[in-house]
Amino acid sequence: MLAYIGLGSNLNNPKQQIKNALIALNDTQDVKVVALSSLYQSPPIDGSKQPDYINAMCQVDTHLTALELLYVCQAIEVKQHRVREKKWGARTIDLDIIIYGVQVVASKQLIIPHPEMMNRAFVLVPLAEIEPDLKVPILGNVQDLIDKLDISGLKKL
Ligand code: ATP
Ligand code: CA
Ligand code: CA
Repeated sequence: MLAYIGLGSNLNNPKQQIKNALIALNDTQDVKVVALSSLYQSPPIDGSKQPDYINAMCQVDTHLTALELLYVCQAIEVKQHRVREKKWGARTIDLDIIIYGVQVVASKQLIIPHPEMMNRAFVLVPLAEIEPDLKVPILGNVQDLIDKLDISGLKKL
C-alpha cells in the first residue's frame, strides 16, 4: 500500500527532527520511505506566537494497516519527546497520515484523508511536489485543491 505521511516540527532543530523521524519510519519493519518532498517553512496555522514550522511530505510503501501506521507514527513522536500541551501548540515532531491508498477512514482515532489537508498549503504543496497528478480520495485533484488556497505564506527551503 502507498501512503503519504506529513511531517512537521517547530522545536529543537526542526530539520533534524524531521530527518530523524524519516529515518525511524524507514527503519520500521514493513515500512519503506519511497519518496520525499523538499522542506517548507510557514508560520503557525493559529497565528499564535511560536516559531515557524518546517514541514515535509513523504510517501511510504507499507504492509501495515492504516491504524498500525498511526501507532508507528505516534511511537516516533514519543521517541522524539513530543509533549502534548495545547492544541496546535509548538512541538518537536508531528506525523500525520494524510492519505492511505484509496482508503477512506472515519473512526474515533483515525480520519483519512486527513480532515484538514484541503486547508493547508504545507500539506498540499509538498504532496503535489511528490505526485503532481495525485487524485485524493473524496477531495479530488491535488492541484485543484492548491488552486483554491492562499499559498503565499509557504516558503520552499
Ligand atoms: P491536526 O490533526 O489538526 O493536524 P495535530 O496534528 O496537532 O492537529 P494531534 O494532537 O497530533 O493533532 O493528534 C490528535 C489525534 O488525531 C491523534 O491522537 C489521532 O488519534 C488523531 N488522528 C485522526 N486522524 C489522524 C490522521 N490521519 N493522522 C494522524 N492522527 C490522526
Ligand atoms: Ca498535524
Ligand atoms: Ca498529529
